[in-house]
Amino acid sequence: MRPVHRGPVPEAGGIPRTYAAYGDARDDLFARLGDYCSYCEMRCHEGPAVEHVQPKRGKSGHPELELIWDNFLLGCPFCNSTKGDRQVVLSDCYWPDQDNTFRAFKYELDRAPQAADALSPAQQATAEKTLQLTGLDREPTHPKLTRKDRRWFKRREAWGIALLAFHDLQKEPSEAMRRQIVNVAMGVGFWSVWMTVFAGDADMKRRFVMAFIGTALDCFDAEMNPVPRPGGRI
Ligand SMILES: [Zn+2]
Repeated sequence: MRPVHRGPVPEAGGIPRTYAAYGDARDDLFARLGDYCSYCEMRCHEGPAVEHVQPKRGKSGHPELELIWDNFLLGCPFCNSTKGDRQVVLSDCYWPDQDNTFRAFKYELDRAPQAADALSPAQQATAEKTLQLTGLDREPTHPKLTRKDRRWFKRREAWGIALLAFHDLQKEPSEAMRRQIVNVAMGVGFWSVWMTVFAGDADMKRRFVMAFIGTALDCFDAEMNPVPRPGGRI
């Protein structure tokens, strides 16, 4: 899960913006984070929706946070509806705008994202809760996977494209190829898949981090290895 930096409330004419409806924040969120789901990282061609970290409705809803910038991320229809109005205890999960979520999960070919190996048992529980909350653990063997939910399929597709790109770069290691691969990655989405496939190539990782707008730079060291996020829990 890509760690992101949402930044401060956007300004209009030097004045922090207020939103009459949460949907009005959509373009500002695209400008800061790109049109990718903040959880599954899928590129949403019609644009992901404004997602409330803490739900606005429901028994445990926070109506006072409905229009608050710091409570916004972007969500695809599947992450959005799986998370829905379920109660969110912030400390129970890792959050892409707070933590280095790239350290929390591992991505493997033909598998749903898993809790990363190096985590403590408590961190592992937090990572697993995050996957369950958003339904990122749903793959074809999962009892709750619906026919409509194509996240696993799109992620698998991204793996195929990223692996081909990796082989192409070995065959033709040129600056043009590197640039081309970044453009393809941005079109496909699933930033973590690209970061995983190119894990041994610091230059490509730097390019992915820089190209996917809003990626939290302070989550990486000079070699582009993930490091604990300042102020985060992982
Ligand atoms: Zn999603």
